[in-house]
Amino acid sequence: MAYAEQEAVELAALQGRFPEWRLWRGQGGSWAATHEPLTARQSRAGMSRTLIENTRPELLAQLEAEALTDRHVAEGYLCTVEAARLHLRDRRPCCGATGPSVETVDAP
Ligand SMILES: [Zn+2]
Repeated sequence: MAYAEQEAVELAALQGRFPEWRLWRGQGGSWAATHEPLTARQSRAGMSRTLIENTRPELLAQLEAEALTDRHVAEGYLCTVEAARLHLRDRRPCCGATGPSVETVDAP
């Protein structure tokens, strides 16, 4: 399979894993993703509307952190993308959903 085809398959596979995002290839071959407008909670948690990374693994790592944060925030936890990234990397607690202290945010 040609390199470009291989990348198209990889992009489609990634797209299937993150249906909330629209994935695209940016200038210079970057890997990018765009989210619907963020809610106040998502913004507060440090989520991004647009991600632009140099490589597919970098975009995957960022999408995983964003998705984990989104899930925890939706469950009412004080989670942040930065904390979720550390959780995915080192298994450090990111918020009450995965850590020792359960702290929930007020209803919107
Ligand atoms: Zn969390």
